[in-house]
Amino acid sequence: MFVYPDRLNLAQTPTPFYALDRLCSHLRTKCDSVPRLWIKRDDSTGCLTSGNKVRKLEFLLAEAKNSGCKIIITSGGVQSNHCRAVAVLGAQLGFKVHLLLRLDRNPEPIGNLLIDQLTGAEISLYSAEEFKQLDQIFDHWEKHYSASGATSYIIPTGGSNATGLWGYMSAVEELQQDFVRENIAPSKLIHATGSGGTQAGLTLGASLLDLEIRVHAYAVCDNADYFYRKVLQDIQDWVKKYSIAVDTKKLDIITHDKYIGPGYGIADPAVFDLIKTVAKLEGVVLDPVYTGKAFYGMIEDIKQGKFKDDQDIVFLHTGGLFGLLAQQQLLDLQVD
Ligand SMILES: *Cc1c(COP(=O)(O)O)cnc(C)c1O
Repeated sequence: MFVYPDRLNLAQTPTPFYALDRLCSHLRTKCDSVPRLWIKRDDSTGCLTSGNKVRKLEFLLAEAKNSGCKIIITSGGVQSNHCRAVAVLGAQLGFKVHLLLRLDRNPEPIGNLLIDQLTGAEISLYSAEEFKQLDQIFDHWEKHYSASGATSYIIPTGGSNATGLWGYMSAVEELQQDFVRENIAPSKLIHATGSGGTQAGLTLGASLLDLEIRVHAYAVCDNADYFYRKVLQDIQDWVKKYSIAVDTKKLDIITHDKYIGPGYGIADPAVFDLIKTVAKLEGVVLDPVYTGKAFYGMIEDIKQGKFKDDQDIVFLHTGGLFGLLAQQQLLDLQVD
């Protein structure tokens, strides 16, 4: 058991864990050597707080509360799942929330942005160009609030830093219990990576607990080299902040960057087709920004025989439903 810093009880855990047997049977009619596929339903960590970010926010918001800050400032894309979770939890816990959003798509009041507005977050919009100076933008708002005597708590994009890392270390402990209950020893843990915090927490957690399982992250932006550096940096920051020794050379930081598609937040039609297939076969709804791309990459790699030596593999569903709703027209569904 890890010794955790203060945390708030915000995520509905343990989340469900089970095998996707109908999908596996379907895949076996199309290709050989399909491992048994399991799913960890972190899209079920809450209704409005659905997804992976709430696990990190249990630790981040505890720190914010302890520091006496009344204002939370954080950032993300205009359809950020992280920002939506912060907006909801801010309203739930009595923080003022200020979101710095990058205009990577139209700021329509749908999906995540709808919930941000509904829960009363203050929103500042920036072009992708302006967003390159994100550090200065954070500085500007921090000074703006401190001028009126208020201190603000800054959460980086995706909640990915030393504090947030505990969220997915804790999820690794939960998974360890899932594996014992199901009497399995899966060899791969697959998930979507964006700001790297989930990947860092899982990689560090699995290493410290000496688990057999290897964490395989599928990138939705940037490249494998970027994630190697980001994950290592987050882990080094964690080591420094909590003074816990880790042999970082032993860490296995594995990122697949072949399935990003046209760009962050933009998916090929094949990803939307897969979202429909998985929804029909299993009642599991993936999203086009994160989980759909990672799941698509995993299936392609299964088809190419990359997991032929694996008996059991686990897909971590990190949420994203509100992001799907913001792109629902691309599902091309009609009622006759
Ligand atoms: C943020 C997010 C991810 C990626 O998690 P990071 O810790 O930012 O890498 C994956 N899936 C969904 C649905 C997300 O919202």
